[in-house]
Amino acid sequence: MTAAADLLAPARRVVVKIGSSLLIGPDRQPHAARFSAIAADLNALAGRGVQIVLVSSGAVALGRSRLGFGTGRLNLEQKQAAAAAGQTALMQAWDAALAPRPAAQALLTSGDLESRRRWLNARATLDTLLAAGAQPVINENDTVATDELRYGDNDRLAARVAQMCDADALILLSDVAGLFTSDPGRDPSARLLDHVPAISPEIEAMAGGAGAAGTGTGGMASKIAAARIAGSAGIGTIIAAGAQARPVLRLFEGGEATAFSPETSRQSARRAWIAGAFNPAGTLTLDAGAVEAVRKGRSLLPAGVSSVSGRFQRGEAVRLLGPDGEAVGKGVVGYASDEVARIAGLQSGQIEAALGWRRGAALVHASDLVLDPA
Ligand code: GLU
Repeated sequence: MTAAADLLAPARRVVVKIGSSLLIGPDRQPHAARFSAIAADLNALAGRGVQIVLVSSGAVALGRSRLGFGTGRLNLEQKQAAAAAGQTALMQAWDAALAPRPAAQALLTSGDLESRRRWLNARATLDTLLAAGAQPVINENDTVATDELRYGDNDRLAARVAQMCDADALILLSDVAGLFTSDPGRDPSARLLDHVPAISPEIEAMAGGAGAAGTGTGGMASKIAAARIAGSAGIGTIIAAGAQARPVLRLFEGGEATAFSPETSRQSARRAWIAGAFNPAGTLTLDAGAVEAVRKGRSLLPAGVSSVSGRFQRGEAVRLLGPDGEAVGKGVVGYASDEVARIAGLQSGQIEAALGWRRGAALVHASDLVLDPA
């Protein structure tokens, strides 16, 4: 088996990024066969219960021809205008290819992905779309993103999206088969790497030579940068050719690609994030029994919380204190502050009666807790 297939075998949620050079033909029109091939794979995976979040480029390339901008260099305003005019055509192409599943557009800026609050909102929307069987299609919101605030390439955007939606893997489909030991165009002995266990300086050097020019902005260096971002969040990355039959499915079945192992596990990346939340949005005070339970590795239940302070949304980090105000640790809370206020002290079975619905028995799940030394 390939390293990519191993990475994908347990995956339930995967971000797939496709570059402009694959989607837009030399005539600057959507490459219909390519849209269909990818859409067929995504629909098949959805049928198997694998959720795919698609990150699609192509807006600027399509908009260029719609606005008569020719093939030369565009200034920022022209790029933004081209993105606006091209995004509608891009989504029409996805919608037609994915039918009967609806395509659902989300345009994100770096601000949406760097602010925790907007990140949580975007994640909740994606979760809802996926649960409803729609196919989220994400692009950078080029029309409002100014140069300093742009990712500029969708490789990095896709890596941040993978982190945001807690994906199990990131697939970057491009016009190269993966990372080669040297430039295959010049060196006949160049070899495709199946597996990159860690992004070393040698790996970076290989990426420098193999960047493919073309319609896209990506190149290999930005793909390695994306693999690094995803890897530090505990997510493995696969770089593969997209101009193939069954471009996504074949990767689950051993088709050639390069797979990058994450540098840490998702669990420890998450714990590092929780531990590093230097400004928790609120505080939960626990009774003595709850302190003992969380110290034994159990989840924090509403019954063990005697008071709550601060205003926070579900998914934010909160500080946990013991009955005498001593620091116990930090955790990511599963309910918002006003909800916690209504269910603190209740048995888990009473959550539904108090709120009218219930999300889960735990206020803070054991895997979302980082304890201070006792
Ligand atoms: N967001 C740009 C577009 O849709 C593409 C950026 C990239 O090529 O990575 O045209």
